[in-house]
Amino acid sequence: MSMIETNLDVLIIGGGPASLSAALYLGRARRRALVVDAGGPRHAPSAGVHNFLTREGVTPAGFRELAWADLQEFPTLSRVEARVVEMSHDGTRWSARTESGATLSARAVLLAVGVVDVHPDIPGYAERWAKSIHHCPFCHGWEVRDRPVAMVGKGDYARHMAPMLKNWTDDVIVLSHGEPFDEDTQKVLDALKVPFYASPIVGLEGEDGTLETILLQNGTRLARQGLFVKPGQRQHDLIHALGLPLKGDPLPCVEVDAMQRTSLPLLWAAGDCTTGFQQVLEAAASGARAAASIIMTLTFSTD
Ligand SMILES: Cc1cc2nc3c(=O)[nH]c(=O)nc-3n(C[C@H](O)[C@H](O)[C@H](O)COP(=O)(O)OP(=O)(O)OC[C@H]3O[C@@H](n4cnc5c(N)ncnc54)[C@H](O)[C@@H]3O)c2cc1C
Repeated sequence: MSMIETNLDVLIIGGGPASLSAALYLGRARRRALVVDAGGPRHAPSAGVHNFLTREGVTPAGFRELAWADLQEFPTLSRVEARVVEMSHDGTRWSARTESGATLSARAVLLAVGVVDVHPDIPGYAERWAKSIHHCPFCHGWEVRDRPVAMVGKGDYARHMAPMLKNWTDDVIVLSHGEPFDEDTQKVLDALKVPFYASPIVGLEGEDGTLETILLQNGTRLARQGLFVKPGQRQHDLIHALGLPLKGDPLPCVEVDAMQRTSLPLLWAAGDCTTGFQQVLEAAASGARAAASIIMTLTFSTD
């Protein structure tokens, strides 16, 4: 791939809701912006996006297609499928190098790269992720309402998520996958009448991504139709390579100001990489804030 575009105002890295919302603002403001996206969004295996008003249940791919259909009207916008592997700032402009060797250059950059999920090692997990295994009850609690569900976790997380799941179903159990339950957690779960099992999960059964039975190492078989987990998360390598300050726990988020500006010159970040409240609507809102800030900054910048 050769040089694609050198005369850009803004390079938007990532092509999810944070990116596309920013693109809409930038296109309507007649700014030359390029969306560079590696594809494969993390919610791709999910059947539908929930809690985005007017778009309830649209597929993740369908959501992006609808966004791009809206963006067609604005001639200063373009997109390319590529992964940015390196970025540098020469004091005036940002340069970004893609995996295939192209160099892109822009006055400002918006990082909207999302995060990387790090999944637990549970047999049968991969084929059920985002089908019958979920991480967010706001996103998928409704789909398992009144059904028997389990959650994997212990300590603070079990004490938080078990009562949360009771919003959607009374039939909740907690599995700690081989970790002991502390006394406090046992008391809380007993009071909630939530059974708990420490024995490790050794298998999940059910056809075509569904869940019917959870098998524990001690021979217990649990009839369950949904499993809630808390995957670990990490930032993309690009974020680390830039040396951006991170803060927060468990996911260290990129530090941004109220308008999504990072500590590096003319570099903004939006969406999941900047927040623990990882939702499509929130990502779109933060992309909008970043774009507004970029437009104002470029307007008054003399560089
Ligand atoms: C299984 C699942 C189900 C979910 N369901 C819901 C739901 O129902 N409702 C809801 O509100 N939220 C849901 N979420 C959360 C939601 O998907 C995220 O909050 C949202 O997609 C974040 O948007 P984003 O733009 O920050 O990042 P993403 O949507 O993750 O997009 C980031 C993009 O950046 C690209 N990228 C990464 N690095 C680079 C690079 N170096 N160069 C170029 N491109 C790069 C990626 O390939 C990706 O396409 C779900 C999440 C998961 C995992």
